[in-house]
Amino acid sequence: MKRLKPSFSLLPLLILLACKSTAQWEGQEPIQIVETIDLPVQIQTKQTFDLGNGLYFSNQMEGARLNDALRLNDSLIRVTILPENEPINPSPWYAFKLWSAEPQNFWIEFTYGERGFHRYYPKFSLDGKVFSNMDSSDFFLPKTESGGPKSAFLKVNSQSDTLWIAAQDRMGTEHVEEWKKALLQKDFVEVIPIGKSKAGRPLEVLKIGEADDSEMLMVISMQHPPELTGYLAMQAFMEEIIKDSPEARKFRSKYNLYLMPQMNPDGVANGHWRHNLGGIDLNRDWVNFNQPET
Ligand SMILES: [Zn+2]
Repeated sequence: MKRLKPSFSLLPLLILLACKSTAQWEGQEPIQIVETIDLPVQIQTKQTFDLGNGLYFSNQMEGARLNDALRLNDSLIRVTILPENEPINPSPWYAFKLWSAEPQNFWIEFTYGERGFHRYYPKFSLDGKVFSNMDSSDFFLPKTESGGPKSAFLKVNSQSDTLWIAAQDRMGTEHVEEWKKALLQKDFVEVIPIGKSKAGRPLEVLKIGEADDSEMLMVISMQHPPELTGYLAMQAFMEEIIKDSPEARKFRSKYNLYLMPQMNPDGVANGHWRHNLGGIDLNRDWVNFNQPET
């Protein structure tokens, strides 16, 4: 197969061509091979925090990340968001839900332990599925010298109906499964079970195409749980490929695609910043293949 030059705009969705990972792309430094044998992971305790005045914060849902919540005063709740293990590239994913018996206004202070910093603009949802940006007038990011803001402040109105707050515009894997089901309606799409994740979740590849396998492309996304943007780009690409248009039909008659939309289901389910349940960055395991997902 002809080796393509990866374009930077496609990097988030990582199109992986069948080649040895020690290969060097044009314009790229030689790949550094790092250790990828399991490291211990700190599993977050699933719990609901009773913050007084009838206010509750909870991480009891798939995809949540909320390690602690503490009331500092009448109008300020401090939340702590910690990584699954370290060392880690700081992509501080957070996701939690909150509610109160009576409507309340207060601020949430986000904190990230030693090495983390506030990275993702907060989104909210009223059903846990559809997320929108918080109003910018309700969000305050203190200036810091270097290494990113150590904290952030978000003004919230809580009610008896649950409010979800998250770092990206959806959480969990339910939407991935629904989308896979929709793709499988097409008769040129089939599902191939390929194994199980560290925690025993099924790993599946969708084969898309009407070609023989002389030319094929493997597409993966969300090795790193917070990378919803790469997932959405991949989704838009796939929606184009499965269309009943002359271009899409031509593409499918030449190439088969092997699609893994969700590379790290354990990491997503546990609200990890970056790693799988083996405490490893899967995108560093394409030489050693120590982790079941790779
Ligand atoms: Zn990544």
